[in-house]
Amino acid sequence: MHFETKVLHAGIEPDPVTGAIMTPIYQTSTYVQAAPGDHKGYEYARTQNPTRDVLQQNIAALEGAAYGLCFSTGMGAVDAVAKLLAPGDEVIATNDLYGGTYRLFTKIFANYGIVFHFVNMGDEAAVRAKVNARTKLLWAETPTNPLLRIIDIKAMSVIAKEAGALLAVDNTFASPYLQQPMALGADLVMHSVTKYIGGHSDLVMGALVMNDPTLQERLSYIQNSCGATPGPMDCFLALRGIKTLHLRMQRHCENGEAVATYLAEHPLVGKVYWPGFEEHPGHAVARSQMKGFGGMISFTLRNDSIEAAMAFLKSTKLFSLAESLGGVESLVGHPATMTHASIPREERIANGLSDSLIRLSVGVEHIDDLLDDLSKALMATR
Ligand SMILES: *Cc1c(COP(=O)(O)O)cnc(C)c1O
Repeated sequence: MHFETKVLHAGIEPDPVTGAIMTPIYQTSTYVQAAPGDHKGYEYARTQNPTRDVLQQNIAALEGAAYGLCFSTGMGAVDAVAKLLAPGDEVIATNDLYGGTYRLFTKIFANYGIVFHFVNMGDEAAVRAKVNARTKLLWAETPTNPLLRIIDIKAMSVIAKEAGALLAVDNTFASPYLQQPMALGADLVMHSVTKYIGGHSDLVMGALVMNDPTLQERLSYIQNSCGATPGPMDCFLALRGIKTLHLRMQRHCENGEAVATYLAEHPLVGKVYWPGFEEHPGHAVARSQMKGFGGMISFTLRNDSIEAAMAFLKSTKLFSLAESLGGVESLVGHPATMTHASIPREERIANGLSDSLIRLSVGVEHIDDLLDDLSKALMATR
């Protein structure tokens, strides 16, 4: 089945009782048993829920995986993966990780004796240098936030296999439409469903997919034991969002390319970060492992100051100033004062996050309206 058909049909059957074509929202906490232990496969809604089952099967199919598990948030999904580890185990993660994942690893799991190494995963030798007998997990995120760096998933899977470690890929920025890490050798794929998969900025959710039945068993045990499971209404909303994932992603890519090209030619813009440009250092890898380059773009202003960035952010009308990404509406963010505000300025700038760096999540509006909005806001930065 093609992706465009899977979004509508994989794991989704009309309701067996009524024929309802849309998956019902099973808004229940428990299920009646005829006699103790005599039930229909559903006992308690933390453990099983039919709306969630359908969503889990659907997301697994979109990633080309055998199993899916959904969590109440993306961080709930990352947390479940980290709970596979034991004290003394070591993790190698990319150095420009999503801030929430970095916080979970360094402020929570490091306290339980798990050791984390953060390296530039674009540099295979640097990754290999951190591998030892205690390495249990490689955690990659590509494209990265906010500089849209690209990690070679196949290369990381080779290193993980040699090390006897699992490779997990946070595929949130790409979406399963643009990139399917299981086919490139990943053992686990994680999503913040909140972003492109949900796509309508109306829910918070996470997901994991995997092929290994033992891994599925361990992770669903953690899902049920720790309890970060999503409610049925949110599962319904995610299923509804997924039905147009392919259409949305096509428009995100088209608009993303047009915006990136416009910005690159604009005299008031400094540098533009978008993996679709041939000059982008990760372009060749992106081209080989992604179907398109997406709608996430970061750029600096020629007037590289916090003040100029503020003038820009106050001037956009269609690009709303907000955290998050991947919804149908365009958003704009300022890493230096928002997502990356806790990083000291020197360190932030050394990592390429300059004062004027602006991140766009390009939505699916008409491109002329988006370019008009950007053009007016750029005028305010002179
Ligand atoms: C948002 C995000 C997360 C966390 O997901 P939540 O749904 O907000 O808990 C993890 N990784 C990436 C890349 C994200 O963008």
